[in-house]
Amino acid sequence: MNLNCTFCKVIDNTIPVHKIHEDDTTLSFLDINPLALGHALVIPKVHKTLIHELAPEEISTLFKTTSYLTKKIHIITGTHATTIAINNGADSGQEVPHIHIHIIPRSRGDGGTPIHSLMPVRPKTNHEELKELASKILNS
Ligand code: 5GP
Ligand code: ZN
Repeated sequence: MNLNCTFCKVIDNTIPVHKIHEDDTTLSFLDINPLALGHALVIPKVHKTLIHELAPEEISTLFKTTSYLTKKIHIITGTHATTIAINNGADSGQEVPHIHIHIIPRSRGDGGTPIHSLMPVRPKTNHEELKELASKILNS
């Protein structure tokens, strides 16, 4: 628990939210400033900022909840697609430093874009560079 953290305050019931799911380790609620109706956030009850700071079983529960809620949100909002995303760290645009998975309902022609449009310019690369990078990650 971090008393300066907005989502810890949500867990603590200090900040009211529209709750859509709760279990022992996760809490889910509607985003206060939704990108689409049904835009939801899934958070772990422990205060961690980055995804790999969670224990494997905590990650597992977080994604199980996300999958379960995504199906429900599709049904309730009548959509057949969602963008599921994590801003993982301040440099990626994370505003609340408590891990949260965004579930954003998507519809054909909604004017939104896929995550590939996140970066204005892609780096120039080649197979040699990608091979070396993959090898470093694989063997580290
Ligand atoms: P981030 O940029 O950190 O990935 O996204 C934070 C998200 O949390 C934003 O979409 C924002 O609208 C949402 N948010 C921030 N404060 C609150 C709050 O007090 N209540 C709710 N329900 N959502 C919040
Ligand atoms: Zn927190």
